[in-house]
This record gives sequence, structure tokens and C-alpha cells, in this order.
Amino acid sequence: MNAQRLQFSFELFPPRTPEGARKLPATIARLAALGPDYFSVTYGAGGSTQEGTYETVMGVVAQTGAEAAPHLTCVGATRANIAAQLARYRAAGIRRIVALRGDLPSGTTGTQAPGEFGYANELVAFIRETCGAQFCIEVAAYPEMHPQAPDPNTDFENFRRKIAAGADRALTQYFFNADAYFDFLDRCVAAGIAIPVVPGIMPITNFAQLARFSAACGAEIPRWIRLRLEQFQNDPAALLDFGLEVVARLCRVLLDGGAPGLHFYTLNQAEPTFRLWKHLGLPVPVAGSCGSQD
Ligand code: FAD
Repeated sequence: MNAQRLQFSFELFPPRTPEGARKLPATIARLAALGPDYFSVTYGAGGSTQEGTYETVMGVVAQTGAEAAPHLTCVGATRANIAAQLARYRAAGIRRIVALRGDLPSGTTGTQAPGEFGYANELVAFIRETCGAQFCIEVAAYPEMHPQAPDPNTDFENFRRKIAAGADRALTQYFFNADAYFDFLDRCVAAGIAIPVVPGIMPITNFAQLARFSAACGAEIPRWIRLRLEQFQNDPAALLDFGLEVVARLCRVLLDGGAPGLHFYTLNQAEPTFRLWKHLGLPVPVAGSCGSQD
């Protein structure tokens, strides 16, 4: 595996129901025991609000002492509102932001977000202009191309804009084809982009949900995986075991091939990520310590 220090992060979303809110602290506790470098918390996706993201971020920090990073999106944002959110997070000790365009409201025409920032590169530039180096800025990357982009080269040029605007790191959309990631890294090297590009990892636990997400975000489910998952639809235990093997193998190939860490889309479920972590033999800190894996 990569000799450099690897960074691991877990993505959460603000709970949408009282039941979800009740369960989240146990999920956070179980995941925090693995010693991630940070948690990130989505914003806007699925109708979550600014306040929900803030509360979840601060809940993670208060409960675990781990670092937490809010996602900020362009959708409907104004400069004044983003500046106020940045000031609030800064005052609360937050030092990392995931800056995104965001999922567009249904019915939006074109690719530009409604509001004062059309694309993520504009949001990144604004954060840098107003906050200097106060935040580590993460952006999204799409090894299989963003679904609204006209072609891979244009999409890559748009990715470059985010780096030029000051992004420090990138987290990828999930994928199941390691070659797409390594090809993306080759394009980064050729373009002189040296920031870490961390693969986003989606545990496989539910075929219908995975198929829905993948259709929406443009992630390809390879035919052989799709066929196997279809067969397991009435056998959830076999599906979990198969999904664990497939995703663990992907993680191993990525780390062995030089990925600088992994970003897990936990979907607020501890167990799938926990099982992957154990299956991969990733280190678990001794009780009481928090954070780094060397
Ligand atoms: P951008 O980088 O702005 O790109 C969007 C599209 O526009 C692409 O097709 C790109 O090629 C094109 N483009 C980019 N810049 C320009 C430009 N200057 N001119 C013309 N075209 C341009 N969504 C949420 O709503 N909330 C979240 O919390 C959230 N978290 C996410 C976390 C990760 C790690 C990832 C990978 C995605 C997340 N998403 C989230 C989904 C994301 O918002 C969508 O994929 C969205 O469609 C694109 O966001 P972006 O930041 O990549 O956009």
C-alpha cells in the first residue's frame, strides 16, 4: 500500500427523520472508533438544510472530538450567506470545507446553479478570496465524467478550474472500475495537478438503491456486478457478502495503486463501512486516541 500517510474520511448526511436523528449518535460512535481523519456532512442533497448540516457537523465534533467538514453548495447561495456560514464555521473551529455546485433543483435548465455562484470553481474562488488559507478546501472529481458534462475533456477542464481556484484536495464520485480512477490520475499528472484525489467508496448493501443512485450520478455498475446483484435480490446476506468482497477488492487495488486514502459514503450506516474497514485490515486506534493511520 501507499507509503505516504493515508487519509480516511466518512461522509454522513443530516438526519431527515426523528428516527434517523435518534440512531445517528450510535453510527457516529461506531465509525469514530475506527479513527478517521475526518467526517464530512452533506448539504442540500435530499432536501437537507443549512442548519441540519451545521448541527450534524457540530454534533460530530462534540460527541467524538474528531474533525468534521461541512459541504457547502452553490445552489441558491449568495455571497453574503456563504460568507456568514464560513464565519460561523470558522468561529466554531471548523477548518475544512467540501465545496460543490450541488444537485440542481428539478426543473432547472442548463448546468449552472441558481444563485450568485454558478459552478463549484466560483465557490472555491470566493472561499479563497475571503478566507485565505483558513480552510482546507475539498472539491468533487468524476473519474467516469460528471453526467451533465458534454465530454470527458471538457469535464476535466472544469475540474482544473477548481484546482486553479484554490482547491487543496478532491474526493471522487464513487465508481467500481479502478481503471477509470487511475486514468483520471494519469490525466492529473499530465495536467500538472498534484493535489490528492481520494476515491469515493460506496459500500454495496442494496441493489435497488445502488441502481437508483448510479443512474442519477453517472456511476457505472459493471455488467458482471449488476448481474450478480440481481441474482441476490432475495438473499440479502449473500448480497452483503458479495458486495463486501467486490468493494474490498476495489479498495485494495486503489490503495496498492497509490490512492492517497479513501472517502466512504456511509449513508449514515456504520456497519457496511465498519465491515469493509475490518476486511481490509485497516488499523483501528487504541481506545482514547483519535485520528491518524500511518
Ligand atoms: P461542478 O464542478 O461545478 O461541475 C458541475 C457540472 O458543470 C459539470 O458537468 C462540469 O463539467 C460543469 N462545469 C463546471 N464548472 C463549469 C464552468 N465554470 N463553466 C461551465 N461548465 C462548468 N450534492 C449536494 O447537493 N450536496 C452535497 O453535500 C454533495 N456532496 C457531494 C460530495 C462528493 C464527494 C461528490 C462527488 C458529490 C457530492 N454532491 C453533493 C453531488 C454534486 O453536487 C453533484 O455531482 C453536482 O451535480 C456537481 O457538483 P460539482 O461540485 O462537482 O460541480
